Amino acid sequence: MSEQESADRFTNQKRRIATERDVAARWGGGGFGCGMCGVRFEVGDGWRWQYANTGDGPSYGNFLVCDKCDGPDVLARWKEAGAIAYAPHADEMTLGSAVVSLRAELATVTAERDALKQALEDIAEPMKGIQREAAELGCKVNGMMANGLCQDANWLRDKARKALR
Ligand SMILES: [Zn+2]
Repeated sequence: MSEQESADRFTNQKRRIATERDVAARWGGGGFGCGMCGVRFEVGDGWRWQYANTGDGPSYGNFLVCDKCDGPDVLARWKEAGAIAYAPHADEMTLGSAVVSLRAELATVTAERDALKQALEDIAEPMKGIQREAAELGCKVNGMMANGLCQDANWLRDKARKALR
């Protein structure tokens, strides 16, 4: 096999772009799609073959992965998913139920995050006004402390904004 042919083999685990030929080819197991999220690859999509029979613990098979699911921890996530899917008594309905509870939990967490974000914006907004006024008045009314307090509030708000993004 030439060096070029070897570099073209998908088993080199390098990211590649799906071609007409890839899509038309007969793929075993899950077919030509992401083993993690199930998306079917179309011409032009990025994908990668991941070797997973690493010999440490149970193997859940090698798999294809899409750009969205790929990452440095993809193998760890694959093994974690396999441990859940192949746990004793696990079946489609148990997994479906787990997804349903996680969705509900996610909706709650998202709502809480949005409420927290709004609360921080509400706190920071009047602070901005006070800060501006204090600066305009040369800090004679509220003094440097008010100005400093506002700056602290805005610094905290910006930190929280970043964390809650
Ligand atoms: Zn995926």
